[in-house]
Amino acid sequence: MGPILINPSLKEHELSRLFGGGGHQSFSCSLSAKVESYKEKLNTLLEPRLHYRIEEIADVGVGSVSIEGGTTFRSPKLSRALRNSNEIVCFVATVGGAIEDEIDGLMAEKRLSEAYILDAMGSVAVENMVEQFHQGERSEFTIENRSTTLRFSPGYCDWPVTEQKKLLGLFASEFTGIDLLDSCLMQPRKSISGLFGLSYAEDHHPPPPYNPCQDCKKTDCMARRT
Ligand code: SF4
Repeated sequence: MGPILINPSLKEHELSRLFGGGGHQSFSCSLSAKVESYKEKLNTLLEPRLHYRIEEIADVGVGSVSIEGGTTFRSPKLSRALRNSNEIVCFVATVGGAIEDEIDGLMAEKRLSEAYILDAMGSVAVENMVEQFHQGERSEFTIENRSTTLRFSPGYCDWPVTEQKKLLGLFASEFTGIDLLDSCLMQPRKSISGLFGLSYAEDHHPPPPYNPCQDCKKTDCMARRT
């Protein structure tokens, strides 16, 4: 299947969180000016695209989720979140390499604060694109009386980043434009892979999906979901 094109939008509160503002709009004047000056340029740098595929779940064990075809993902929290799911939506998304080239250029010119700002904007953009995809799919599946879980990515929570190999292995890199380095980081850097579960809802108002953060004691976790 060809890529889905979703235009990322830059939410100020998401940027503010990366700049240490705790999610509040508390930019200084100079920071605000730099963000504004880069917003227009960002549109010329982003090459957003997202690929996804839906896989049938063969088995959910204690700490593992196996899909038809033999791939098994290992994460206790993922398996708990997906225990009622019968399918999973696997995805890879990127905003491309042009923004990375620009950041590297700024770094080479020692324009570090600008490089940092653009880097943060790229992170917010790819995260926003994936969130739009997840919310959009959730709405469409709700019409089919299906419910979705929260989304999970290798390297977060208790899902090892090395599992990225299994997830990326479901996609041909020549189509996605995303390669996996030996370190298990993706290239282009501003890319996200992940999955979420799908199940048939028993009623029209299913309960909220299981959130592992509710009973997790890791209070300093940056990925904590409320
Ligand atoms: S706070 Fe949430 S995301 Fe962070 S480790 Fe705990 S369960 Fe995982």
